Amino acid sequence: MTDYAFAARPTPSVAIDGSELRFPVRRIFCVGRNYREHAREMGGDPARDIPFFFTKPADALVASGEEVPYPSRTANFHHEVELVVAVGRGGRDIAAADAVTHLFGYAVGNDLTRRDLQLAARAKGQPWDSSKGFDHSAVVGMIRPVERGHLTRGRIWLAVNDNLRQNADVADMTWNVPEIIAELSGLFELAAGDLIFTGTPAGVGPLTRGDRIEAGIEGLGSISNRIV
Ligand code: MN
Repeated sequence: MTDYAFAARPTPSVAIDGSELRFPVRRIFCVGRNYREHAREMGGDPARDIPFFFTKPADALVASGEEVPYPSRTANFHHEVELVVAVGRGGRDIAAADAVTHLFGYAVGNDLTRRDLQLAARAKGQPWDSSKGFDHSAVVGMIRPVERGHLTRGRIWLAVNDNLRQNADVADMTWNVPEIIAELSGLFELAAGDLIFTGTPAGVGPLTRGDRIEAGIEGLGSISNRIV
């Protein structure tokens, strides 16, 4: 046993649908610009701008049903519904053809974003930690294990106070899940416990205190959070 100078923080974890066990989270990777229409609404050119990666800290996790505090230092706090994949077996330089054998399951996520800080950082070539990796920025619902099937298509949607904001299909991703695993594992050695947010479709928009967000993916159910 290691003797720490003070009590170590517990490992962040996510509930698993149909199990008493929890999924212990190591790292949270995210894909940017993985749906063409969202690349367009962000002022990009989907023919030229290929997807890319950024990260969030594991302790930024929020479960469905939990309240999300409106973050400090932003006047443009945005939702981004995303398919989240959970890695069950690690590796580096994983071939796309083998990628599904590394998956543990799938979940619905919300990549919460300080949009004003993100656009300012993008303009100055600065990093995105403050705009993407802040406290309570990674909403992840229950993980559905791959034993119940893989997810390659299906409606992905998000509503704020019952008004539909995002409505697309997971099949519209620029890089599909195996391609994401192949790319990401060439940059980082993946390990069991990693979560990957796979990008958001068009329709991102602002949130205010009191808003009730519902988001879902066909086959995975839905998540619900209130901004406070
Ligand atoms: Mn995103």
